[in-house]
This record gives sequence, structure tokens and C-alpha cells, in this order.
Amino acid sequence: MKTIALVAHDGKKQALLNWVGQHKAFFINKNLVATGTTGKMVAEVLQQEVVCLASGPLGGDQQIGAMIAEQKIDWLVFFWDPLSSQPHDPDVKALIRLAVVWNIPVACNQATADFIVHSNLYQQNYQREVPDFSVYQNRLEQK
Ligand code: PGA
Repeated sequence: MKTIALVAHDGKKQALLNWVGQHKAFFINKNLVATGTTGKMVAEVLQQEVVCLASGPLGGDQQIGAMIAEQKIDWLVFFWDPLSSQPHDPDVKALIRLAVVWNIPVACNQATADFIVHSNLYQQNYQREVPDFSVYQNRLEQK
């Protein structure tokens, strides 16, 4: 079963909830994990279990980042707010960075999220390529 991580900044929570509400059927049979406040709101809309981590500013973004590094997340939906500054901006950057490092699909807005939900690749159980960092990991042994 695919695991989807959901995060929305306060200014984007309603947009995420609207989008999630439009795709209720899609989320059946998906594992959902989210930052604290986002997760509680999504669970209410979907009437479905959501694993709620810490609130984003209290470490939730980093918890999701760690799960990405552990290959536990298949898709990140991250509606970050481009019009307000965040106290945990370094965590926000770190989360996006880790999604890119590990080649995780990331939707930062509704249009991209729509494209992924309706993608044939998603329906065909797309297996993303997990980057091979063995050269990087072995670099100390070569010295
Ligand atoms: P929240 O965190 O879901 O707990 O509001 C989101 C964030 O700001 O990263």
C-alpha cells in the first residue's frame, strides 16, 4: 500500500482540505501520514485514519523528512505558503530537499497534485528509481 505524506501551512490548509475532499475515493487504501494539525483536519474530512506526527514548527516536517530518507514515503503533498514566512523555514527547505534527494514525487500546489492523482503512472503502480548513493557512501573508505 502506498504511503502519502501531507503537509499544509496555515495559509494553505483550506486549499489542501478542499483538494483532499475532492479526491476522497483516491485516498481509500492509502496509508496517510501528516504533520499534526494538517493530519487532524485531513482525518476529519476523509473520515479515515491519518498518522499525525508533531506539528510542523515543532518538528513534524523533520519527522516526515526522516521517513523519506528511510524510504517510507511514496509521495509528498506539501502545500507550502509562498506568501508568508515560516518560523521553521529551514525545516521546510530540508523537507523539500530530501524529497528531491530521494526522487519522491512532490506536489506543492493543487495543479500538480491533480496531475499526480490522475496520472496513469500512479494507477500502474509506478516504481520510482531510488538513487544509488553508494559512491557517496563509500567515499571515506577510498581515502
Ligand atoms: P501543521 O504543520 O500541520 O502542524 O500545521 C504544518 C507546517 O507548518 O509545516
